[in-house]
Amino acid sequence: MSRITDTDLAQRFGTPTYVYDADLIRTRCHRLKAAFAGSPVDLLYAVKANDNPHVLDIIRREGLGFDTVSFEEALLGIRVGQDPSRIWYTENNMTDEEMTEALDAGVYLNIGSYTRLEAFCRSGHAQRTCSIRVNPAIGDGHHAKVDTGNRDSKFGIRLDLIPAAVELAAAHGVRITGLHLHIGSGIQHPSNLIAAMDRLLETAARIPTLERINFGGGFPIPYREGEAEFALEAFAEQARSRFAQPGITYFFEPGRWIVAPAGHLLTRVNTVKDQGRVTFLGTDTGFNHLLRPALYEAYHAVENASRPAETPTTVYTIAGNICETGDILAEDRRLPETALGDLLRIRDTGAYGMTMASHYNRRPLPAEVLLEEGAPRLIRPRASAESVVESLLTETGYPA
Ligand SMILES: *Cc1c(COP(=O)(O)O)cnc(C)c1O
Repeated sequence: MSRITDTDLAQRFGTPTYVYDADLIRTRCHRLKAAFAGSPVDLLYAVKANDNPHVLDIIRREGLGFDTVSFEEALLGIRVGQDPSRIWYTENNMTDEEMTEALDAGVYLNIGSYTRLEAFCRSGHAQRTCSIRVNPAIGDGHHAKVDTGNRDSKFGIRLDLIPAAVELAAAHGVRITGLHLHIGSGIQHPSNLIAAMDRLLETAARIPTLERINFGGGFPIPYREGEAEFALEAFAEQARSRFAQPGITYFFEPGRWIVAPAGHLLTRVNTVKDQGRVTFLGTDTGFNHLLRPALYEAYHAVENASRPAETPTTVYTIAGNICETGDILAEDRRLPETALGDLLRIRDTGAYGMTMASHYNRRPLPAEVLLEEGAPRLIRPRASAESVVESLLTETGYPA
């Protein structure tokens, strides 16, 4: 079957629209599983990268468990059919209510602070096992804002407090069955992850109740043209020799690596403006839909989908439609001479695109379309202007 073109998709579903490739998501799940095959490794998908239930369903059917970071994500995981025991809930400032609900739901708690561990131990809940997240004092990531493993980050329990945490648990009849780290997102130097893994394994060797050791996610993807790919298979080979403790299952929980390259954002140019030194292409989307460039100075390749055969001759800055100067999606990109109505493809936006989208400037969220063997399925329609306004009025209890 011939694949539908972006021009057809835009005509049929309008813009802005996130387009996801189901086959590519599956292929990447296969590649991950193959890389770790034959080792006592279980794989989780980090739900926050892309939590469209149809996407979650594909990944669950591929046999991955879920890593979740809120009770809502955990609930969503259960709701799309994930086995609760294969849902890790890696908490951040979890409340007592969230803790009780999560334990009642049967998901596996991964506790990231000493005070939360104390609360769990004292809760008297029938569930008496949990994992603890360690701060390994080794971090990495595509930007300082997503380096989660460095010693000054808010994540994890300090390494030197782990023996006390294990003692505290034992004193309350709680078994620490899991040990976890996640050093950051979009890891630049895989050697940092290996070093952190070794640090975690040293600690793990002193905890006899352990059953699971989780090394987090963070596998990077190349966003820039010509950038090298993460050598997944070579990394797995290097990691393999470390999966040596009998009775332990080892975990990785990538998000971005699975879904980022399987998605792109389609947006239409409705404004062309020469400001003298900068020529802007103004689009019908913005940082309300794709926050990464504004938040992380992230790079996403941009292509003119209306002119695939034309030579890139002109340098443009691609601006969003949000009322802020910082709403720039891409700076100084060479594209074919672009006209009003042209369609742009913003690449590698399958992760941390839609999940970070907001209604800022009271705009609707983008639509989402899933391609199955090239055939499109609308998995989230765009709301009309009227319904966006009506939802706000209803949610705020504004009188009719
Ligand atoms: C966000 C997150 C991940 C996934 O990170 P990626 O860079 O998308 O692979 C994994 N584990 C935890 C605890 C996270 O917070």
